[in-house]
Amino acid sequence: QAKQERRGSFRFFEPAMDQLLLDRVVLEHELRAALANHELELHYQPLVSCSSGAIEGYEALIRWHHPRRGMVMPIDFIPLAEQTGLIVPIGEWAIRTACIEASKWPARQSIAVNVSPLQFRQSNLPEMVAEALLESGLPADRLEIEITEGVLISDTSDAILTLSALRAQGVRVSLDDFGTGYSSLSYLSSFAVDKIKIDRSFVRPLGQSEGAGLLVRTIIELGHHLGLTVVAEGVETPQQLAMIQGKGCDQVQGYLLGRPDRMEARPAVTGASPRGRADRKPELEATR
Ligand code: C2E
Ligand code: MG
Ligand code: MG
Ligand code: MG
Repeated sequence: QAKQERRGSFRFFEPAMDQLLLDRVVLEHELRAALANHELELHYQPLVSCSSGAIEGYEALIRWHHPRRGMVMPIDFIPLAEQTGLIVPIGEWAIRTACIEASKWPARQSIAVNVSPLQFRQSNLPEMVAEALLESGLPADRLEIEITEGVLISDTSDAILTLSALRAQGVRVSLDDFGTGYSSLSYLSSFAVDKIKIDRSFVRPLGQSEGAGLLVRTIIELGHHLGLTVVAEGVETPQQLAMIQGKGCDQVQGYLLGRPDRMEARPAVTGASPRGRADRKPELEATR
């Protein structure tokens, strides 16, 4: 009898579990309020041309300034937002805000925004994106939507419809974290995307093994054969950069080239645009 009782109430009296559940409920409640309280912010990380060293655009990366916890990174709240559906209003805020902020940048710079699976499955995503472009005045060809293979796994036909509705407007689509999902190659041939972003797990071992270099070279060639732009993520060292450049990659992104930051927090450089952004990365020059 006692055992039965304990089993029935296990979930509610096991201290660790109880705390976990409470944390989650509190965090969800706080996340719900975060949008209204203006606690969310976009940081921007440069995407740099491999051949010219010019900053060709930025990726918007969300941050949550929590009143007590300080800065909360996406890994600690995007999964919860996805599970609770909060990602829909948060993701919409990210797209609208990124378009408005990017509309003030030089015309050659684009903005990439991450869209999570649940958000991508909202049937009105293409209309919402069209609205965000219209409101901000940002030309469609300066907006990139980053999706992961997770977006393409379920509802394949709906995903194709959404992709083509986005691209029909002139918006470009990137496949993020390329190589980490399932059946990457079959997705590439059946889904219309413009760009692949080689996951940083492929970039990290560059220079440590010959196989790592071969793999990255093969992914770049595959992308180019399919007419896609290829980006390498997570470039942290000059050695990695030199190897990536040597393999004909189009763009690089990583701490070596620039960390995600507020635009206005970027150091002013003489001769740069009024907003104080350096257009060329000295690290890139140094390695050529
Ligand atoms: P992601 O889209 O693959 O973004 C790249 C992540 O790698 C970012 O982490 C970035 O700060 C980090 N990174 C960039 N360069 C380097 C490097 O050289 N070394 C290392 N170790 N890391 C580097 P972050 O900002 O923590 O974002 C993590 C993920 O959260 C993103 O991965 C993306 O999937 C998601 N995310 C961020 N913002 C949003 C958003 O607005 N909406 C949605 N749905 N997801 C977002
Ligand atoms: Mg991304
Ligand atoms: Mg990525
Ligand atoms: Mg990622």
